[in-house]
Amino acid sequence: MSSPIDHHSYDVVVVGAGSAGVAAAISAAEAGARTALIEAGGMLGGELLTGMTIDGAINARGEQISGGVLDKLMQRCEALGGFVRRLSDWRLIQYFAYDPEIMKIAVPQLVHEAGVDVYLHSYAEDIVMHDGRIDGVMVRNKSGRNLLTARTIIDCSGDGDICAAGGGTFLAAGEKERMQPVSMMFRMAGVDTAALLEFVRSHPEYVAVGESEAIRGNRSDAELVEEIHRQGQPCVFFKGDGPLLGQAIDSGELYPTALIMIQPTSEARREVCVNSTRVTLDNPMHTRELSGALGALMGQVHQCMSFLQRRVPGFEGATLSGLAPKMGIRETRRVAGEYVLTSQDVRTGRKRADGVAKGCHHIDIHQEGTGQVRIPVADGGSYDIPFDCLVPLGLKNVLVAGRCFSAEREAHASARVMGGCMAMGQACGIAAAMAGERNADFDVRDTDVVELRRRLTEVGAVLEGTH
Ligand SMILES: Cc1cc2nc3c(=O)[nH]c(=O)nc-3n(C[C@H](O)[C@H](O)[C@H](O)COP(=O)(O)OP(=O)(O)OC[C@H]3O[C@@H](n4cnc5c(N)ncnc54)[C@H](O)[C@@H]3O)c2cc1C
Repeated sequence: MSSPIDHHSYDVVVVGAGSAGVAAAISAAEAGARTALIEAGGMLGGELLTGMTIDGAINARGEQISGGVLDKLMQRCEALGGFVRRLSDWRLIQYFAYDPEIMKIAVPQLVHEAGVDVYLHSYAEDIVMHDGRIDGVMVRNKSGRNLLTARTIIDCSGDGDICAAGGGTFLAAGEKERMQPVSMMFRMAGVDTAALLEFVRSHPEYVAVGESEAIRGNRSDAELVEEIHRQGQPCVFFKGDGPLLGQAIDSGELYPTALIMIQPTSEARREVCVNSTRVTLDNPMHTRELSGALGALMGQVHQCMSFLQRRVPGFEGATLSGLAPKMGIRETRRVAGEYVLTSQDVRTGRKRADGVAKGCHHIDIHQEGTGQVRIPVADGGSYDIPFDCLVPLGLKNVLVAGRCFSAEREAHASARVMGGCMAMGQACGIAAAMAGERNADFDVRDTDVVELRRRLTEVGAVLEGTH
């Protein structure tokens, strides 16, 4: 089915409109670049629309370490009536909770206001390249084929699709260990938070608390569940190896899982998001394998929902109110960049003069069944993500941000959360706009990182300090 090619020219083309791509496109456009945003699906926001909280933006000590586009997004959600609050899970993290239905409105508003050209239902299927430069991205949609050329391309596809098409190199994934499971997030409305929190208060042994010293602060588990109760929001992490879930798993009432994590999405609907389901695949990028997981995940959604209604006070009258727009994929390709963020960088909270984004989430590796690795960042702080992690090897005019950036597996398992993805996207967007001010044969490796950091700070990025 070949059709004529419709050609459009930009300064910057961003592929993928998840948290990274949206931040990249808004930042590039606001910095003056003519910017296109390509998205295979029909909505803008990717995993931002699922109902999960934004992690990796506030460290365990309570300091915000990601700003700029993220602040604008949270402010817009608040103005539209969909910002819940900044909260602690009294376990490992602090996060921003919001209503994903309002997020569906907030993201396109900001993208539109920045002046970004959006291509929805458009799959980036190929590239045009010469001499290590990707001159354009070929997009397939109902109009036929579009060739979008640009000085700089930002790969925010989650899977590194553009880098793969350009012959980029990738870090081994799923060879020694199996990739993290895919999940179907869901929401339940009509939850009685007071009853749920009372239940948690009387059963500290059911929940995970105080896994970061910065959060525990010499308090006992009983004191920490008291803090959850005092916070007054449904922020609860039932642990797979605790007696509540353990017995349900042993008896076959519940599938094997590391967690049922509950987080608020809307006070008006008394609604929460539930993160629990899991199916481990050899490779989530294999379409048939991924498609085959949908039935099992939906079965788990129903099992989990019924379990909560039957066994957890506060959920007796709650009902299913929403499913994530698609299966959630935690891990696929990681692009090999000029620098590979290391597990050590993350664990020790390493600061760098060439940092252009930050991460603070614990190393968070979901495993098969009841397994989950959770390792906090030292002292509840943050680490820097250097610009070179966003520069793919062998490609002169391509940047990468989000889930597919250059990191060792453990480092990726920390930085993959949405606070970090947005910060990386923002850095790429401004770097791409800066590249547009240079010669046409400019290599992104020659980016003036001092100037990039100055411009990032100007738009609200958090780069300095001891966070
Ligand atoms: C089950 C689950 C639970 C999680 N829980 C949390 C949490 O509580 N808090 C948190 O902060 N993070 C959480 N994460 C991690 C986080 O959501 C993701 O890692 C992050 O959102 C990735 O952002 P991204 O922009 O890189 O990718 P995505 O949000 O996946 O966006 C990529 C976009 O690119 C599009 N795309 C892909 N290929 C193409 C192509 N070839 N052409 C055009 N478009 C394309 C996709 O349609 C998609 O919209 C979770 C992840 C999962 C899966």
